[in-house]
Amino acid sequence: MSEDPTPYEPLVEPPTGIKGLFAPVAGFGVTFSSMFRPTVTEQYPFEKVPTKPRYHGRHQLNRYADGLEKCIGCELCAWACPADAIYVEGADNADLPDGGHMSPGERYGRVYQINYLRCIFCGLCIEACPTRALTMTNEYELAGPTREGLIWEKEDLLAPMREGMLAAPHPMVPGTEDTQYYRGEVSGAVAEQVEWVASHRPEDPTLRGATAPAAQAGTTDGTVA
Ligand code: SF4
Ligand code: SF4
Repeated sequence: MSEDPTPYEPLVEPPTGIKGLFAPVAGFGVTFSSMFRPTVTEQYPFEKVPTKPRYHGRHQLNRYADGLEKCIGCELCAWACPADAIYVEGADNADLPDGGHMSPGERYGRVYQINYLRCIFCGLCIEACPTRALTMTNEYELAGPTREGLIWEKEDLLAPMREGMLAAPHPMVPGTEDTQYYRGEVSGAVAEQVEWVASHRPEDPTLRGATAPAAQAGTTDGTVA
């Protein structure tokens, strides 16, 4: 037969006196004091509170001021992603007809997908991007009814066209190299680009927005000092 186990002895002395009297309800003190503090409950989704400025929300593929895409299809973002959430297929601008470009330089992202079922919003992909093509917005409402719908395509991720931008493909600003685009020296679409799009896609809705700035810029090279 085994010996009797050592009887239990608490390591902390139990409270006595007035403390002992209130000990069983001491936990309610936190609840009671909270009743007099301001309410912090957020009424989402009826009231949306802005996120912090550097919050990591959904991604965006950016464009240059003349509408060419910044993504060069290098796949660095896909390799940096720890969740294998990005799929990229690059292609050559030289294969596009009549000297059109999707991006400055040799390559562009022909296929670009982000799988938001996998993404953990760590931001490693945007750190890896050499052209700042990929950034993250503050948008966080990314739920959806289907799994397929949470795989976002390039068209879903591209930044909206701003005034002065001309939808790609179209040639680069005449006389410029890709490095001038990278340095932010292209300020908008120029007349030659507008003419090229007008002759290839006369119904393009971005022609109207790009015409006025291009007319102001004349036939200059569209660069700033
Ligand atoms: S934020 Fe992180 S997990 Fe999401 S795509 Fe970028 S690298 Fe991958
Ligand atoms: S988003 Fe950036 S890193 Fe990813 S393929 Fe495009 S250029 Fe390369």
